[in-house]
Amino acid sequence: MDFEHTPRARALIERLTRFMDDHVYQAEGRPEQLEPLKARARAEGLWNLFLPDAEHGAGLSNREYAPLAEIMGRSPMAPEVFNCSAPDSGNMEILARYGTPAQQERWLRPLLDGRIRSCFSMTEPGVASSDATNIEAEIRREGDHYVVNGRKWWTSGIADPRCELIVFMGKTNAANPDKHRQQSMLLIPRDTPGVQVVRNLDVFGWDDAPHGHAEVLYENVRVPVENILLGEDRGFEIAQGRLGPGRIHHCMRLVGRAERCLELMCARSKARVAFGKPLAGQTVTMERIAQARVLIDQARLLTLHAAWKMDTVGIKGARKEIAMIKVAAPAMACQVIDWAIQAHGAAGLSKDFILARSYAQARGLRIADGPDEVHRNQIARLELAAH
Ligand SMILES: Cc1cc2nc3c(=O)[nH]c(=O)nc-3n(C[C@H](O)[C@H](O)[C@H](O)COP(=O)(O)OP(=O)(O)OC[C@H]3O[C@@H](n4cnc5c(N)ncnc54)[C@H](O)[C@@H]3O)c2cc1C
Repeated sequence: MDFEHTPRARALIERLTRFMDDHVYQAEGRPEQLEPLKARARAEGLWNLFLPDAEHGAGLSNREYAPLAEIMGRSPMAPEVFNCSAPDSGNMEILARYGTPAQQERWLRPLLDGRIRSCFSMTEPGVASSDATNIEAEIRREGDHYVVNGRKWWTSGIADPRCELIVFMGKTNAANPDKHRQQSMLLIPRDTPGVQVVRNLDVFGWDDAPHGHAEVLYENVRVPVENILLGEDRGFEIAQGRLGPGRIHHCMRLVGRAERCLELMCARSKARVAFGKPLAGQTVTMERIAQARVLIDQARLLTLHAAWKMDTVGIKGARKEIAMIKVAAPAMACQVIDWAIQAHGAAGLSKDFILARSYAQARGLRIADGPDEVHRNQIARLELAAH
């Protein structure tokens, strides 16, 4: 693997870093700044960098995108400023890859322009959803329409007033003996009658507004048959394609967030004096700072390696490396952020710093997009298969 950045990635790293320094950090905690910043980022060409498809996006490789996503990940607000935030980025990828020209015109175009938001509705309260074959929501064909019934939760982004599209996963063919050919993905306009947000869900008390996570009831929701994505019973196949890049993007961003939290930890522990010397002079703090440096660099290298594998052998060939980083990066970020919180004392738990919110996000990612255990199982299966 080559560690050098390509000239194109190097130029973007410089421009993105400058944009973050000049505009983003100072806008944190000021949601009214988001839309003006998006317009500015778009005008400067710092837009849709995540999309490898050159026709619709920046056409960067995963290896080139990794340091850029890391820079964006430093700030909770930055990914959306550059139109690179989840779950929209994953939805744009599947629409670019599998959408018909009409679906792309209706949904992909406004998403690429940052005019609307979208969500992905798969997880259900009634079943262990880390095993997606358990999903029970029904998609039934009636003439020229599909009729959808089911209950979902943790649908991130649906509470956002700008959300206009739900990418919905349900079963079209529950009787199929092949458990991976029972599901389909359907594009449901957010305002379709029968879609009802039951309640918002908090992550450790954070409502993540306006994006939010919600429980959603689908009652006799009717959409035209043209709204199926790729074709009936092919939902699992799309989900696999969607989750690979989505997972590594989360990890790239977490490396950036951990890096920023370590910076805060260093600054704070140099500035505060307890029992006669700066916190930074206490061996325990030095130990933690050193170990944080080791953990962040390990995770970054593992992320770059997974990105390089995706570029060279494809998502399927890189599934072990993607699973590895999906286990390593959130665990690393939880540990580093926890130490940074400790070094800040009570302030670390407040909203005065990005630490508490970052911890909640990192902890959530040990479950979202597949819990740690499921990824470890996959790593072990692939490892054992080699012997
Ligand atoms: C912040 C956040 C945002 C999310 N956003 C979305 C979204 O936008 N759309 C969406 O559809 N979903 C979303 N989710 C849901 C997420 O994808 C699921 O929570 C996840 O897939 C796990 O499913 P579950 O909660 O049903 O856990 P379960 O499947 O009930 O699993 C519970 C626990 O069992 C253990 N476990 C499971 N399988 C195994 C195994 N094979 N071996 C050992 N232990 C195992 C794990 O510890 C796991 O955490 C989000 C979740 C969070 C926290």
